[in-house]
Amino acid sequence: MTTIKFVQGDITRQTADAIVNAANSSLLGGGGVDGAILRRGGPAILEACRKLRASHYGKGLRTGQAVATTAGELDAQWVIHTVGPVHSREEDRSDQLASCYRESLRVADELGARTVAFPAVSAGIYGWPMDDAARIAVATVRAAQTSVEEVTFVLFDEAAYEAFGRQL
Ligand code: ADP
Repeated sequence: MTTIKFVQGDITRQTADAIVNAANSSLLGGGGVDGAILRRGGPAILEACRKLRASHYGKGLRTGQAVATTAGELDAQWVIHTVGPVHSREEDRSDQLASCYRESLRVADELGARTVAFPAVSAGIYGWPMDDAARIAVATVRAAQTSVEEVTFVLFDEAAYEAFGRQL
């Protein structure tokens, strides 16, 4: 059984074995939580991302996939980078968003991570409505077959924190 927790705050201040980044497919940095993780984590994370990009992901990391690097100076062992889908009104991309959580937990299992912190993937710059992002996130983690013992959703603002809280 995985325990699910919600906290309001900055994920770069969170302690966990693995901190998940809402990355973009270039793996070369972006705004939002990505920018914050790369700033606070120091240059080692971006350097590891650059190497991964050159060695394995010439075309970028695909939407819904996840890959781990060092966590640099963050209070974690790993950052797991996952690429959320851009929200669309024309096309249902929920499976891709669910895949971000499943794949991140799969990578966490491979690493042996017991505690994982997630942001609200896709619910910022990528435009996913917060309530729906919360529903998909919590349902997917609940249903996941994983050895991760504790998942903490770290929600940046009160509205996000409340949206996730309503999923309980
Ligand atoms: P995406 O491009 O996948 O939408 P964003 O980083 O723009 O990713 O936003 C995802 C969510 O993370 C948003 O709800 C945003 O408010 C939140 N966020 C931004 N910075 C932080 C942070 N330092 N810690 C936790 N959540 C954050």
